[in-house]
Amino acid sequence: MEKAPINWINMVLFTATPICAVTLVPLYGYFYGYDLYEWLVFVFLMGFCGMSITGGYHRLWSHKTYSAHPFLRFIFAIGGACALQNDILHWSSDHRRHHQYVDNNARDPYFAGRGFWFSHIGWILRKYESHVEDFSNVKDLQKDPIVMWQHRHYLKLVLLTNIGLPAFLGYLHGDIIACLLLGGLLRLVLSQHVTYLINSLAHMWGRQPYSDDCTARDNSLLALITYGEGYHNYHHTFQWDYRNGVKWWHFDPTKWMIKLCSLVGLTKDLKRCTVAQIEKAKLEMQYRLATERCELLDIPENWRKRLELEYEQFLHTLQLWTEHRQAWYEAKGKKIQETLGHWDQLQLQDKYKEMQFSLKVQRRRWQKMLRNLGEPIPNPA
Ligand SMILES: [Zn+2]
Ligand SMILES: [Zn+2]
Repeated sequence: MEKAPINWINMVLFTATPICAVTLVPLYGYFYGYDLYEWLVFVFLMGFCGMSITGGYHRLWSHKTYSAHPFLRFIFAIGGACALQNDILHWSSDHRRHHQYVDNNARDPYFAGRGFWFSHIGWILRKYESHVEDFSNVKDLQKDPIVMWQHRHYLKLVLLTNIGLPAFLGYLHGDIIACLLLGGLLRLVLSQHVTYLINSLAHMWGRQPYSDDCTARDNSLLALITYGEGYHNYHHTFQWDYRNGVKWWHFDPTKWMIKLCSLVGLTKDLKRCTVAQIEKAKLEMQYRLATERCELLDIPENWRKRLELEYEQFLHTLQLWTEHRQAWYEAKGKKIQETLGHWDQLQLQDKYKEMQFSLKVQRRRWQKMLRNLGEPIPNPA
């Protein structure tokens, strides 16, 4: 089969920068050394680029999971240019297409099924047919003046942020070359490959607790180096949620940054899906896998029936819990408080707490059932 034509600009750029980084950075370090200030410049610019991509390009512009003040959008636009991953318009258009046609060989621009190399960087190095420039899916972004400003001045911004900014920080400190090597070159190569790992590794390595409709995976280790983007199975299942790491303890600095910014008015309308939606997705996935296992292990029919019953009961409890929760939250609202007596309020609270307990028991029983699949079990009731 004939190979796609090479994109020479990208090929030279993505070959030369890593080669220069692995040779020049250690050589300069060996002869002259780097001090704390220069490493801090590296860390600062790494975070600036990384969070501009995850918080800005990805969760704000591509998915509209929240809205942001123009000041923050401007900062993200600068940081995104520094990351040198194309402008917001191109990036978001590609990414929306990735979600819409995920795992479709002909239309997903970085389809992981074509292998690690292709989904990581190969798709940028050649002009593949699956990577089309078509802005029809980003018409909303074309109305954002900051997006269009960055689009028009992208090259200038790239040069200013990648050469001008590290050089200026180096000038302040008295070593321009050290800052250019660490804050410019090494940071550029590393921050690019960190993002690319989401397109490659996060579609190959990890768990699929929410859905296996596509190859996306949850990987906590990957989340550590990708500013929280490693929870990619959750993200592909609930792409409108501003969080990727949904539990409070999931390492997701992008989610924390968006939340912190909302406290000072820089972000608002943070979208999240409900606990019930998440629980339901997990439950459906577990049930399907369990029935598949039953088939595979030739588990008796009465066991499968019991599993089905338990699954339906879990769904029912979840539904009741959602209704009681909503009723209780509404009762806490100001308007209803005025019309609802204190006694009624207490009753709603008690009912909600009861349902919460039932859900907990139900969850425990379900987990136990999954663990003991096929074994002789006592009556779950
Ligand atoms: Zn996405
Ligand atoms: Zn993906």
